[in-house]
Amino acid sequence: MGSPGCGKTTVGRILGQRLGLPVIDVDNDHLERQWGGSVANKLAEWGDDRFVEEEGKALQSLVASGSVISLTGSNPLHKEAMRHIKQNGILVFLNVANNDILQRLNEMKVNRIVQQSSGITMASLLAQRQKHYELDYDLRVLCPTGSTPEDITDKIVDGITRLDNHSGYCSTRGGAPNVSFNEAILQGLAPDGGLYVPVDDLPSFSLGELELLCDMTYPERALRILERLLHPLDVHPSELYRMVQQAYSAQNFASESVFPLVQLGQDSNQFVVEMFHGPTASFKDGPLQLLPLLFQHAIEQSGSDKKYLILVATSGDTGSAVLSGFGRNTGLNNTKVVVFYPDNGVSSIQRAQMLSATGQNAYVYGIKGDFDYCQTTIKEIFNNIELTSSWREKYSIELSAANSINWGRLVSQIACHISSYAEMVKHGHITMGRKVDVCIPTGNFGNVLSACYAKKMGVPFNKFICASNKNKVLTDFIHTGIYDISNRHLCQTTSPAIDILKSSNLERYLYDVTNRNTSQVKEWFETLDTSEEFSVPKEVLDAIQEDFVADYAEEDESTWAMKDTYFEQNYLLDPHTAVAKVVADRYQGQRNTPLVICGTAHYAKFPEALQGAIDTHNRERPADDVASQFSTLEQMGSHPAMHERLKNDVVKVDQMTCDVIEADQKMIVQTVEKIAQKWSSGFEQ
Ligand SMILES: *Cc1c(COP(=O)(O)O)cnc(C)c1O
Repeated sequence: MGSPGCGKTTVGRILGQRLGLPVIDVDNDHLERQWGGSVANKLAEWGDDRFVEEEGKALQSLVASGSVISLTGSNPLHKEAMRHIKQNGILVFLNVANNDILQRLNEMKVNRIVQQSSGITMASLLAQRQKHYELDYDLRVLCPTGSTPEDITDKIVDGITRLDNHSGYCSTRGGAPNVSFNEAILQGLAPDGGLYVPVDDLPSFSLGELELLCDMTYPERALRILERLLHPLDVHPSELYRMVQQAYSAQNFASESVFPLVQLGQDSNQFVVEMFHGPTASFKDGPLQLLPLLFQHAIEQSGSDKKYLILVATSGDTGSAVLSGFGRNTGLNNTKVVVFYPDNGVSSIQRAQMLSATGQNAYVYGIKGDFDYCQTTIKEIFNNIELTSSWREKYSIELSAANSINWGRLVSQIACHISSYAEMVKHGHITMGRKVDVCIPTGNFGNVLSACYAKKMGVPFNKFICASNKNKVLTDFIHTGIYDISNRHLCQTTSPAIDILKSSNLERYLYDVTNRNTSQVKEWFETLDTSEEFSVPKEVLDAIQEDFVADYAEEDESTWAMKDTYFEQNYLLDPHTAVAKVVADRYQGQRNTPLVICGTAHYAKFPEALQGAIDTHNRERPADDVASQFSTLEQMGSHPAMHERLKNDVVKVDQMTCDVIEADQKMIVQTVEKIAQKWSSGFEQ
């Protein structure tokens, strides 16, 4: 299936030869035979509507199994006929760019396309058609400019083979059975304490395919990327289409390009991809507007009526993003969210965002401990089989996770990074294929790992620059191969989202870089729990340094970066992006290659830090309330614009109170159990 001129007939013929199957070309072999006349004549005789109707009827009378069928360009306009044809087959959509189609049609002087004579331009006709094609296919084949019919046939064969092979997901520690994508999402953490990763290699994109993505909107790009990452039996493309449209709608993202790219200074080789235009103003909205939809779909597919209690540890931003994502999707009757954040480790706005989002489906607790404590406690609850099975028995409740330990979060982050490369090309900053460095403020390693996956999938990224604040365990690890937290304590900084010492997703990276040595990975991360330290051998360190560079910023350095960038570029950085900016500047000082900094949060989430950095004359002034902090920021009139949603959501910060729990695992377990108990007894809907 595909637009007129996309090559259906030729490719169908080659595919038939390749698979040893008969080929039916609906135009020539079926319609003309049934109608006893030329298709062009019938179109002229009947007009568009009747033609589509007759053509549909004719297709419904086609009974053919074990064949390759080339549809006509207008078959997909007939719903019933498509339902018939899909029942016993795999529907393959040859996706050729409309510009290429226009050029081919011009050259071929085509004159028998349905609706061609209705007065609308060929371009809008093709755009309308595209919508129909997008409703039905099982497999999309991207056909970049210059693809030969043989190339396309190869891709179809690969795609069909993949449909039949579904290896699922395994644990990085090798001690858990393989599961489907839906199971991996619902479980969050594997039962052996490892993280789920796909068994098969990640799919890859050729430069030509990446080129196709450049001209697209973000939802269009994300759809094409996610289709490759998720198996159609787990999430069918038509479901993905709906989810992507909903998650990345204009209602959710206050930027037309969703994750726009800006150049920091004219002719500079430094760019920021603004990942913070979502509802809660951090990059975590990207994955967390989609995850609840995937989660809901997974529950529906599982066919069970289990209840899911999602436990979340947050260093500030995950909490509000989870609450927004899961809270807004009111269809989720069988999930509730419990968020734990370090009581002294989040900004007042972050706290207010979480508190203002609590409701029937969500609970938020401050913990008198740091983020690592929260994350470890949750992982321990997950891994306490006695506890979880007693809850399953007593309350019919399953636990799950929405942190980046959940594979469902990483897939959509991969799409963000592929898209930022596409933006670089689209805006002419680089030509397709030129290598780009990426600098990311890093805590739990989820974001930078997704960028690394994007590189494995064919995106020409060069080095990943892992930027830490003074909690620089990752920087030291990447320099020395020794991961040592035994004599570190977590410092509170102005960039709380990366105040992390136990970086979960490093486990997935080490799994890859050791060629999937699960027993080694298991040993390292168990040693980290018991001895607070592990080290990797030289060949592993060398491999890490092939991908990564690492550096860190002291507090005063990131403060200066915020100030300088404001006065020199009229651009406001949040403290996390400022950490990356410091590190990126130092790295680029020695070379001048294009570099993208991940802008991970909107500055308005951290007004105190901003005020401290920029308003240096007024250091002594008592802290403003949030409303006046926001108006000060707005008056600065700089870029990016104020985050309106945030401003409206958190004006009542000062009146909010929150339950705070001691850093005591027993008490935390009790708190969760009480929620489970109440929920299952029906006291709460
Ligand atoms: C979560 C977060 C990070 C760190 O991302 P990881 O995937 O945990 O490395 C950086 N900056 C901000 C603003 C964040 O919210």
